[in-house]
Amino acid sequence: MTAPTPTPGIHHVTCIAGDPQRNMDFWVETLGLRLVKRSINQDDPSTYHFFFADAEGTPGTSMTFFPWEGQSRGKVGTGQVARTAFRVPEGSLDFWEDRFDDHGVEYEDRIERFGETVLPFRDPDGLPVELVAVEIPDDDPTVPWTEWVPESAAIRGFHSVTLWLADPEPSEDLLRTMGMEEVGTEAAQGDTPGDERTRFAAEGPVGKYVDVLPTVEGGRQGHGTVHHVAFQTPTDEVQEEMREAVRSAGLRPTNQIDRHWFRSVYFREFGGVLFELATNGPGYDSDEPQAELGERLVLPGEFEGRREEIEAGLTNVTVPRPDAAEADD
Ligand code: ZN
Repeated sequence: MTAPTPTPGIHHVTCIAGDPQRNMDFWVETLGLRLVKRSINQDDPSTYHFFFADAEGTPGTSMTFFPWEGQSRGKVGTGQVARTAFRVPEGSLDFWEDRFDDHGVEYEDRIERFGETVLPFRDPDGLPVELVAVEIPDDDPTVPWTEWVPESAAIRGFHSVTLWLADPEPSEDLLRTMGMEEVGTEAAQGDTPGDERTRFAAEGPVGKYVDVLPTVEGGRQGHGTVHHVAFQTPTDEVQEEMREAVRSAGLRPTNQIDRHWFRSVYFREFGGVLFELATNGPGYDSDEPQAELGERLVLPGEFEGRREEIEAGLTNVTVPRPDAAEADD
């Protein structure tokens, strides 16, 4: 069969958090992302699903969370997305270290990786995250959200995810099937186990890289771990091509599921990581105006009819606002 249209890169990453307000405060106020959708978990409407992204919810920028208060802390390990990295403008890491000092964020020493500088830190649930300083081109597809962080430092979508895998080879073949190319290997450093990191690159520029580290660290899903990573398959046609390619490779992709802001296909890849293929449309502004993204609880489809019951079952959260923060001082 012919090769599928290559994925341009990561679409979104979805993680598990604990307290929803603490999660919201950190990702909006400390990291400066925009809440582009406040919704519910469509499989468990008594819990939230938050989507944090750039100013326009551009594909390749949204970090999403299931705040599952009933779960316990997880452990990052083999068969997971063990690290999620974001792009920030070259020269902004001093700003970020100062900000982390001010906000009491746990961060580590910077490391050099494939010629780029990486600042590793953890969110309040212990989720390992990295900022990677890169040159942001003038025509970059991402749009900085500057309510909390100036444009000179604002997060500009995903840089990469790092997969920890017991047996990387079948997963690496899958990444090639998805249209990514191996671009280098390097000795692993920092707090990651395994001895060699292999990097795969998609077309990009956003969410361009997937790194693979051979590891055998036992993991457990829970607060502070990644639930799944989604890759861009911009249109239904391209997604179906990729779905067929993945199926031919011996995996078992789901049928397409309507996630309202995109349409999704899921499969567990050979190393145990849950992968998703997501269309670029309809987008986060398909059911609320761009200017009002995230301001109200959006209940897709049939859930709207149960709004009263659903709202009553959810913990109250407030989206942090700079003007409100000033008023508190
Ligand atoms: Zn997803």
